[in-house]
Amino acid sequence: MNQAPSNTAPKVYGWCPGALRPMMSGDGLVVRIRAPLGRLGQDQAMAVAGLSEKFGNGLLDVSARANLQLRGVTEAAHPDLIAELRSLGLVDPDAAAETRRNALLQPFWSDGDDTHHIAQALSLALTKASDLTLPGKFGFAIDAGATPVLQDISADIRIERAQHGLILRADGAACGKPVTADTAAQEALELAHWFLASGGAPAGRGRMKAHLASGADLPQGHTAEADGQPHKARPGRTAVGQMAALEFGQITAADLAALAALGPIRLTPWRMLLAEGTQALPPVPGLILDATDPRLQVSVCTGAPRCLQALAQTRPLARDLAQHLPAGTTLHVSGCAKGCAHPAPADLVLTATAKDRFNIIRDGTAAARPHIPDITAAALRAAPKTLTEA
Ligand code: SF4
Repeated sequence: MNQAPSNTAPKVYGWCPGALRPMMSGDGLVVRIRAPLGRLGQDQAMAVAGLSEKFGNGLLDVSARANLQLRGVTEAAHPDLIAELRSLGLVDPDAAAETRRNALLQPFWSDGDDTHHIAQALSLALTKASDLTLPGKFGFAIDAGATPVLQDISADIRIERAQHGLILRADGAACGKPVTADTAAQEALELAHWFLASGGAPAGRGRMKAHLASGADLPQGHTAEADGQPHKARPGRTAVGQMAALEFGQITAADLAALAALGPIRLTPWRMLLAEGTQALPPVPGLILDATDPRLQVSVCTGAPRCLQALAQTRPLARDLAQHLPAGTTLHVSGCAKGCAHPAPADLVLTATAKDRFNIIRDGTAAARPHIPDITAAALRAAPKTLTEA
């Protein structure tokens, strides 16, 4: 893929914020909660909504790894926020354990099923594994439902359902090692140790897929073929409750509290929340319940002024252009070439080049060479067809 020349190269941090190690953004600290089992009990969800109002700016994001992040927290307020989150059981013992416990599970699990069983064992094992220092973005996916649903979601070590049972699969490999629900967590840890011992993280950075692509040979036993089709998540009814999408992955504290009033909430990696046990959701402003809503075709990052690296505002433009997208066409609006909201190619991409100016890219990533360079947001709003007819 062609990369656009740039003299405004975005900064790559190589780690993700946590609760104990928050990241500074344009609107204050981003404090990311890794909820155990990707679930907030009703009281926890209600309390987090209140903490967002009390210590943050009343806005929360659901990340692409199914974490919930409070925005706009001041450094002075951070210790008190952590104390409150700790009392809710939402903080790890220390920052290293928090970084290691980067495990995502498919959100449709039931009590005692394979996903639930493995996730509990792996979370415990990762919390205790103080000898395991993984790169900041290195993550695990537990995808042991009837069919895999997380194969498009970023992860380095996957435990997933294949045709003849569970497999442990290194990201990027076509085959995995057969495991059981009882052995999967331990095998996953051993594969993580292999990744480090075989040179997967020089200077503390690295991902499994790149390591395999560079020629690393997996340990023996990774011979069972993976199964599964790309999963398209949509708002609507599921076996465990109603799923609602958030406009561009963000929710207000008031809307979170309204959802929490209905019951526990599960976090998903699709910028959607799952209201556990509900059959129908009342209209809550900010929640998208219609699977045909064009905003679901749009990925958009935080943009200015809330991201320090953003060159332009992104969300207002994305909101205005969404309604002009042809059905099925994906649009990514990015505040800089880093492309946080959608690292993969999209049908159409707008990458900010300066205040209210964007490159139009077709079928590429936010860093790709533009099809039309440096068009103003005003021109796009005045003639949205420029985007699709470019
Ligand atoms: S892509 Fe968006 S969120 Fe990511 S660094 Fe750039 S402006 Fe910030």
